[in-house]
Amino acid sequence: MIIFKFGGASVKNAQSVKNIAGIIRQAPGPLIAVVSAMGKTTNRLETILEKGINNSGEYKELMEELILDHLDLISKLIPDPTHPLFEEVRFLFLQAANMLKTYEGKEYNFIYDQVVSVGELVSTKIVSTWLEYSGISNHWVDIRQILKTDSSYREAIVNHEISASLCRNMFQASNPPCFITQGFIGSDMKNHTTTLGREGSDYTAALLADYLDAENVTLWKDVDGIFNADPARFSNVRKIDTMDYQEVIELTYYGAKVIHPKTIRPLFEKRIPLFVKNFNAPEKSGTAVGKTGFSENRDSFIIVLENQLLISVSKNDLSFISELNLSYLFDLLHSFRLKANLMQHSAVSFSFCVDTPKGKAVKELIVKLQKEFKVLYNTNLLLITVRNYSPELIHELIGNKNVLVEQRSRQTVQFVIA
Ligand code: ASP
Ligand code: MG
Repeated sequence: MIIFKFGGASVKNAQSVKNIAGIIRQAPGPLIAVVSAMGKTTNRLETILEKGINNSGEYKELMEELILDHLDLISKLIPDPTHPLFEEVRFLFLQAANMLKTYEGKEYNFIYDQVVSVGELVSTKIVSTWLEYSGISNHWVDIRQILKTDSSYREAIVNHEISASLCRNMFQASNPPCFITQGFIGSDMKNHTTTLGREGSDYTAALLADYLDAENVTLWKDVDGIFNADPARFSNVRKIDTMDYQEVIELTYYGAKVIHPKTIRPLFEKRIPLFVKNFNAPEKSGTAVGKTGFSENRDSFIIVLENQLLISVSKNDLSFISELNLSYLFDLLHSFRLKANLMQHSAVSFSFCVDTPKGKAVKELIVKLQKEFKVLYNTNLLLITVRNYSPELIHELIGNKNVLVEQRSRQTVQFVIA
């Protein structure tokens, strides 16, 4: 079995759906294709959810637009307007919109998962139907029946024991040997839909590979592989041909957006090779991720995170920040689904950098912190991380920018910049 993962950009329009069908057709053997929501669908569903929860009627229009965009895409694949796929897709979206009413007043993270998950259900229906239509038989699998999680909505923890055995049953050798399924979503023990965190489809692909002892995993992207810096931000970037698991884990930990941070561990344990390839140029070699020592000569990697919020907390009476304070703090961050991208401790204060939460959540976070601590914060900062740095590179990147925090170890340096 091999696993392919197709991200949103690889299914953003009818042409791209046809393109990935071509890639699937050429696959050498039994295959599972994990497909993300199309284009920016997940972001759009987040906006719809936001508006719906805040009782802005606008959510209905936005939902209708999203439906029409999908129907339009389908009509470019399947000219027959009576094909059942049109109704099926409309129904799935309307069902998601109804969840806003059904679950009104329930916990935000729970509603989020019920609504936002529809993006992957729809995209996989479309891809599966198109493949069938163009002569590639396949099974559409609702992964929620086999990927079981706890109930930490929006960041659900997968139960590997149950999921692995359900997956092995589901993905047995079959004829046709091609399965189409969703990434990012699962379900809890009460069969409510859960999600694994944004960009979680990479992680799903890795889990399936682990459970099924797959031969390899390919993440199909709109770039030629993993680069030593974001090609959209820097010129002079270099595509990396081979990397070891360890180095990729480090990069994703510091926020490199190439791969979801949880993807590597399941692959590493079984030494399952991972390829990152360009769906627009499948003949190119891409980046291969594998065993220790696989990394080429020590490349410098640059990771830039935008829109960072730097928060410093201290106790009003200048007492030390205790383990108990820290545990309160991390629980609070977790409840906002935030991760500390950088931390610094001094005698009486603790500073950390997080992605700025969306909308009203920023204010809520600060207010909650102020209940326990004296709080200082700066908004709209950049966090620059350099792995395998050199003085020249740092000079080039930082120059005389206003550095608020700097942290240096032998391999890694991080700067928070105003
Ligand atoms: N569609 C989800 C997202 O955009 C999951 C994924 O693409 O991996 O975050
Ligand atoms: Mg995506």
